[in-house]
Amino acid sequence: MDKQQEFVLRALEERDVRFVRLWFTDVLGFLKSVAVAPAELESAFAEGLGFDGSAIEGFARVTEADMLAKPDPSTFQILPWRGETMGTARMFCDINMPDGSASFADPRHVLKRTLSKAADLGFTFYTHPEIEFYLFKSLTGAPGTTPEPVDSSGYFDHTPQGIGNDFRREAITMLESMGISVEFSHHEGGPGQQEIDLRYADALSTADNIMTFRVVVKEVALSQGIYASFMPKPLSDQPGSGMHTHMSLFEGDRNAFFEGGAQYQLSKTGRAFIAGLLHHAGEITAVTNQWVNSYKRLAVGDEAPSFISWGHNNRSALVRVPMYKPHKGQSSRVEFRSLDSAANPYLAFALMLAAGLKGIEEGYELPAEVEDDIWSLTSRERKALGIKPLPSSLAEAISAMEDSELVAETLGEHVFDFFLRNKRAEWQDYRRQVTPFELNKLLPVL
Ligand code: GLN
Ligand code: MG
Ligand code: MG
Ligand code: MG
Repeated sequence: MDKQQEFVLRALEERDVRFVRLWFTDVLGFLKSVAVAPAELESAFAEGLGFDGSAIEGFARVTEADMLAKPDPSTFQILPWRGETMGTARMFCDINMPDGSASFADPRHVLKRTLSKAADLGFTFYTHPEIEFYLFKSLTGAPGTTPEPVDSSGYFDHTPQGIGNDFRREAITMLESMGISVEFSHHEGGPGQQEIDLRYADALSTADNIMTFRVVVKEVALSQGIYASFMPKPLSDQPGSGMHTHMSLFEGDRNAFFEGGAQYQLSKTGRAFIAGLLHHAGEITAVTNQWVNSYKRLAVGDEAPSFISWGHNNRSALVRVPMYKPHKGQSSRVEFRSLDSAANPYLAFALMLAAGLKGIEEGYELPAEVEDDIWSLTSRERKALGIKPLPSSLAEAISAMEDSELVAETLGEHVFDFFLRNKRAEWQDYRRQVTPFELNKLLPVL
């Protein structure tokens, strides 16, 4: 047993932990959990805990169902909402096959594989997500009815006795107690919409932290009698919930995106990384925006990108190079703005990194930046500037992904095939729906 595993076993005793939850994530980004008694942990560390992989979305066929969840001791944390005595803790797991090899279906493994590719090139990948979500009064109400936001405030509003203030305060306290640092938080543009930004960390920790974040936010909301949702676009006439992500590559303790004196203090490596993101943006969108509903957010502006471009101070751009802050040291980074709050963070980060690395490896040329508001341009002007649209529906995103070598290689054949099959089925289901929009508009006149 290694030191970290011993530390966990000691912590269990010292902190009176009675249940240990083993967490992992399915291919669509839903959290899975199995609780084990502390006495079982030693063997879980040694061999992993067996479970039926065929019952997990995207994991295995029935004939090769046996899988093992092996807890990663470095992710051990007490779950604060379960109370101090007879406590509950959690660890994220890696998923293995019975012969001890890593499962190709495990999203965490997909990310780890891509991170080690970056490591071979000498890079560590850091990410910092801005997570947006809505707070609604409740989930009850007839299925399909529009949810009611908890307030009618807007961007950066400070509302005395606002529900959002108390909510953010409790959620952030809980996150911090689990070792997840929060940098900013504020009311977002939509009524009831919130944003909480996590401090940058290596991408694997960030992805784990995002999974934890979703649970914490939902738990805190329920404890306050409200409902939190990460749905990309819950309200037709209000902004959707994005998860803009700031990225940088480090070589040792040097930010490889930084070059003093260069435009926006952005190095050649940083520029090539953006070029890679832009070049492959269409192909990775089915994963960064994986639901039919995701495209309702991307379609209409409201500061979500619809076109493939980059800029410095342009909130209609897909990739933005934020203002450089000298007091923050070598803080050069690029912000990717299409990703939404309902993506699988492991798969999305793997593809964003792979696209950027490809730009560096192949030395892609960075197109000119666009400082115009892209939505106000005519489609002719956009064409003249060489600005292509992002996929505008799940169907378009699927067909862009189908032809992508980069996505197939990064996700691996198993996840790639499952994902496409699953998303084609979602699109078929959606296509046959007759919506309230059509009924309201057409039934009275046709
Ligand atoms: N909600 C917007 C989006 O969907 C972002 C708004 C903002 O952070 N400026 O991406
Ligand atoms: Mg923000
Ligand atoms: Mg925001
Ligand atoms: Mg942002």
